[in-house]
Order: sequence, then structure tokens, then C-alpha cells
Amino acid sequence: MNSEPDTREPDTREPDTPESDTPESDIKDWTWTLTRRCEQCGLSAGEIPVDEVPERAFVAAEEWVAILRSSPAVGARPTPGVWSPLEYGAHVRDVYRLFDQRIAAMVTEQVPTFANWDQGEAAVVGRYAELDSDVVAAELETAAVAFVDRLRSLEPRQRERRGRRSDGREFTVASLSRYLLHDVIHHLWDVTGQPDATTSLELG
Ligand SMILES: [Zn+2]
Repeated sequence: MNSEPDTREPDTREPDTPESDTPESDIKDWTWTLTRRCEQCGLSAGEIPVDEVPERAFVAAEEWVAILRSSPAVGARPTPGVWSPLEYGAHVRDVYRLFDQRIAAMVTEQVPTFANWDQGEAAVVGRYAELDSDVVAAELETAAVAFVDRLRSLEPRQRERRGRRSDGREFTVASLSRYLLHDVIHHLWDVTGQPDATTSLELG
């Protein structure tokens, strides 16, 4: 029996997600979220002004920290095949870390190709399910602050620097940071069922 959890949601909650193999691999194509609103979490990542991305990425991280510190029960999976909030939180921590590294590479190298990141393998190797939720909360916050600080340190022209995923898909710093934002907010929806609170803000 495969004890590896999947992150699939019931079909009723993903009317038009292209595919939801489990756990998500880096190859899974979530890039559509950059061009249209995600009906699940409610975020229109592609419409978020690039200047707002750092603040929103920080606010989302603070929500994650609050969830991880809310109760020891965050380590419990809602069903055996779905990640616990702790496991999602560890994944989100690693997303902030990884995307910080990727953006650093995009700024310093000519169109770097990112090594593939197998998210399911990362969860197993990183023993997400066995981690201490308070430790993950602190690490997530540190990772998010580093990511946000890096974004804020960039010159406007550096947001157009490019990088390529191992599947050939090209990103700019701007689109990759929006991609991150959707990822961390979408996973908030995964664990809370609440659409992104910040989507009610006026979008210029
Ligand atoms: Zn979403």
C-alpha cells in the first residue's frame, strides 16, 4: 500500500484544474494560474501588481505561521491520503526557500535552468509528517522574510530577468514570484477551505 499522501482534493473542488497527480511534482503545470483566476482559492495571480507581490507573500506567510502555531492537531491528516496542515506548511516553507534560490540565480545568471524539484520526494526525504510544527513555523517565517527581502531589493528591470524550469517553461522574476504567491495561497485554501482574504482588496 502506498502510504504517501496525495494532495488531491475531491473532484467537486477542482472543476478545471488540468491534472492533480500526487503529490504535486514540479512538472505539474500550474502556470495557467498566471493567466486566469483560480476558481478554488480565488486568486488572480496574474493581475496582482508586481509591487504588491512581496507584501502579499509576507501576509500569506504570517497566515501559515498562525496556522502552524494554532494547535498540535495541525499534524493530523484530514484523511489518510491528504497532507496535514503541518505537511503543507513544510512544503510552503520549502517553496519560499526554493523560489528565493531560483530568483537569486535568475538575477545572477543568464537564463538559468532550474533543477527539477520533486515535491513528493521532498516531503518523504524531509520527513514532513514528523516535523515539529513550531519549528516549521519559525523556518517558514525566516524563509518568507528572505524571499520577500530579495524581491524588494530588486531593481525594476531585474524583474524581467528570466529562468527556465526543467520542462522548458520560461519564467521572469515577476511571473515566478506570482507563481509562488498562488502556490502558498492555494495551499492556505487547501487547509482552511477559505478563499484568499486578500482577493477582496482592490486590485488597481
Ligand atoms: Zn488556487
